[in-house]
Amino acid sequence: MKLPRFRAALPAVCSACLGLLPGAVQEGDGGSWEVPVGVRVVPGRVRPAVSWGAGPVSLQPSDGGREQYAPLLVPPGACLGLLQVWEGRWRVIPYDVLPDWLKDNDYLLHGHRPPMPSFRACFKSIFRIHTETGNIWTHLLGFVLFLCLGILTMLRPNMYFMAPLQEKVVFGMFFLGAVLCLSFSWLFHTVYCHSEKVSRTFSKLDYSGIALLIMGSFVPWLYYSFYCSPQPRLIYLSIVCVLGISAIIVAQWDRFATPKHRQTRAGVFLGLGLSGVVPTMHFTIAEGFVKATTVGQMGWFFLMAVMYITGAGLYAARIPERFFPGKFDIWFQSHQIFHVLVVAAAFVHFYGVSNLQEFRYGLEGGCTDDSLL
Ligand SMILES: [Zn+2]
Repeated sequence: MKLPRFRAALPAVCSACLGLLPGAVQEGDGGSWEVPVGVRVVPGRVRPAVSWGAGPVSLQPSDGGREQYAPLLVPPGACLGLLQVWEGRWRVIPYDVLPDWLKDNDYLLHGHRPPMPSFRACFKSIFRIHTETGNIWTHLLGFVLFLCLGILTMLRPNMYFMAPLQEKVVFGMFFLGAVLCLSFSWLFHTVYCHSEKVSRTFSKLDYSGIALLIMGSFVPWLYYSFYCSPQPRLIYLSIVCVLGISAIIVAQWDRFATPKHRQTRAGVFLGLGLSGVVPTMHFTIAEGFVKATTVGQMGWFFLMAVMYITGAGLYAARIPERFFPGKFDIWFQSHQIFHVLVVAAAFVHFYGVSNLQEFRYGLEGGCTDDSLL
């Protein structure tokens, strides 16, 4: 089948992608696949679209040497677009022609990356403009920020801590959670378009990372807020670990990542974060509102919670793109706002626990009365 016939067989919506075709279309093996010849397979660089087609096709070029090509397309008539890496060249495509596993947010009408079963192509796409560019960079920069903050905290001279080793481990748990969450996230958004299997694996890591960030955030906060009451501190810490591990287990469920369960996801992580309400109330009742808001830093933790909840709400409801479909395809979509709020909230949390740490240092570590703190 020659290109013009193939081109004519595709609905107009795919025309944007047709520029990718090198000009020849071959019959597929067994006759059930139409195989436009596109990707020249350079070993180790571009692999065939496993979920789409019939595997690499051997062709006999005119010069007699054998070359391998990968099939680009899906069953005849399905029009999933010719959306492939062709010698490193690709264009953004509309939502309608995405394969089902890449269809996540139908309010983002255009600007999607095609499926690109090549990690090299995925990583190069970090520097291109598409629906995931903002998602990748918000957490890539957040990752660099928290990596630097973590290193600086670990390198702080021990004389600024009452129990340097213990306190560095406690802060280390928070930074480990933040760095893992942000790096899983930017990696997921980068390789999301690789293939169904890769996207599913990395989405599980991404969700597990959120649970790790929440668990890690609890550690220094509980450590300093219940400094002089080790028993409730241990109980709350154990509970958040059990809840966090449960959230990670739930995130391994294959259908957890589907668009249908967007609200379930927001609910699971919101619930995990909101389990902090119990120790907060305990602290406020025991110490009084004034002490909770001053030395307890509750104002900062409240701001942090508001940021997380706003982010989760926008994420679940897909605001603002739901009101203006197609207007936030590239910038300011709900997921990017959610990403920025996660980084900001984690930073506010770090500021709050740093103040708690300083307060403890100012007291020279002593527990004088029956206070929790
Ligand atoms: Zn994300």
